[in-house]
Amino acid sequence: MSDLFEGLSGIMKGLSGFMPQDDPNVKIMNVQSEINELRKKETEIYAEIGRQVLAEKTGLFPDLENKLQLVKISLQEAEQKLKSAQEEKLTIEAAKKAEEKTLTCPSCGTYNAEGIKFCQECGSRLGTLRCSGCGTELSYGTRYCGECGKKQEE
Ligand SMILES: [Zn+2]
Ligand SMILES: [Zn+2]
Repeated sequence: MSDLFEGLSGIMKGLSGFMPQDDPNVKIMNVQSEINELRKKETEIYAEIGRQVLAEKTGLFPDLENKLQLVKISLQEAEQKLKSAQEEKLTIEAAKKAEEKTLTCPSCGTYNAEGIKFCQECGSRLGTLRCSGCGTELSYGTRYCGECGKKQEE
């Protein structure tokens, strides 16, 4: 066989995308995934037996039951962490939205790019300031605070 021909047949084998079924590597891979599947099923059945036994009677396996209790506590803590991380995400997203709002001109409604201080359409001051009375965030140009009613200085 010429080197060229061998090279070509190697490329064709690669292109065909699968190895022959009698290849020991393929056999090992297949049987390993079968074993993994069966082990997983076995574990699930043991777990189900455990659940049913515990539902009937506790105290048979005190050490394991203690471990289970600890796992349950950790699980609750992890779920709490997940919840607060999700809340944090929502808060950040809301803050971002509020930020975008300040870029929308309160006078003419034109959307101005981030970092722009004055509306590119009408020249109004963009962004927010704090009410001199109560500290509530107000748009520039607001004359009376909606929260405390204080008149704002220009
Ligand atoms: Zn404007
Ligand atoms: Zn105010």
